[in-house]
Amino acid sequence: RSGKSQFKYYRDIKQLSYFQNYVTLERELKQALKNKEFVLYYQPIFSDGGKVISGVEALVRWIHPEKGLIPPFEFITAAEEMGIMPDIGDWVLNEGLRQLHQWHTLGYDKLTLSINASKTQMMDDRFFKEVSEKLREYDIRPDRLGIEITESDVCDYLDKITEFTTKLKQLGVKISLDDFGVGLSSLNYLKEIKVTQLKVDRSFMRRIPEDQYDCALLSGICTLCEKLNIEVVTEGVETKQQFEYIANQNHKMQGYYFSHPVLPDQLEEQLRRLN
Ligand code: C2E
Ligand code: MG
Ligand code: MG
Ligand code: MG
Repeated sequence: RSGKSQFKYYRDIKQLSYFQNYVTLERELKQALKNKEFVLYYQPIFSDGGKVISGVEALVRWIHPEKGLIPPFEFITAAEEMGIMPDIGDWVLNEGLRQLHQWHTLGYDKLTLSINASKTQMMDDRFFKEVSEKLREYDIRPDRLGIEITESDVCDYLDKITEFTTKLKQLGVKISLDDFGVGLSSLNYLKEIKVTQLKVDRSFMRRIPEDQYDCALLSGICTLCEKLNIEVVTEGVETKQQFEYIANQNHKMQGYYFSHPVLPDQLEEQLRRLN
């Protein structure tokens, strides 16, 4: 490993000395997989002006035996560098689809699941195989699954990622471009990757409705997507004002205004109330 990547890792975890940290985290992350210390939270995605939950996004957390709940930003970069991310990703896929199957069985059979794919997962042919096998194992229609790809990953590996998304699309799985608008956005990606959904980064939401410029950007993105037949999800809806501004536009919405990411029980409560 290069010193540079270790340094990047060190910036993530600040408590201990650098080398101790790296070794400890690597050991603990591997143990976490074995000991099943990861959990999935689910954040609902709303349609119909916020009235209906059309899907959920699975968001991983690490329940560390001493440190408690660790958010994904603290360990995903490190896990990528250590080569552990594909294993964590496989776990996320399996657990997410298992849970989705259960919700379908409860009668919420149109509910969709979105999974965030990591860079290294998309580089690896194994992930595609896992997706098709798990869909069959849990008897889930491929169009009930969406794979979220982060925009900044795309520019680094466009060819490989296009190959991956093309295969997924053939299978019927939806492709979503996450955090759109903050990376080196290229409209060309929309065409190359053939995304079915675009998630507008929450930084666009922050100054809506006050900022005319941001309002115009959002509405421009929406018009573009409508013409390309791409579904829009606005992330980071936090306030009533934001909600009211976008409620009558017919895109999907996600954010703390509706719900934080929650455990399955709490999600079921919301489903019972709304769907
Ligand atoms: P993301 O995919 O863009 O997920 C949305 C993040 O924004 C989540 O943070 C969510 O809790 C947060 N969020 C949702 N609504 C709001 C809001 O209204 N306001 C604000 N300020 N934040 C909001 P989280 O769960 O900490 O996840 C962070 C990132 O970690 C995710 O960003 C995703 O890129 C990555 N991640 C999470 N789970 C996985 C996973 O299973 N695999 C991979 N590869 N990455 C994951
Ligand atoms: Mg996401
Ligand atoms: Mg993401
Ligand atoms: Mg996002």
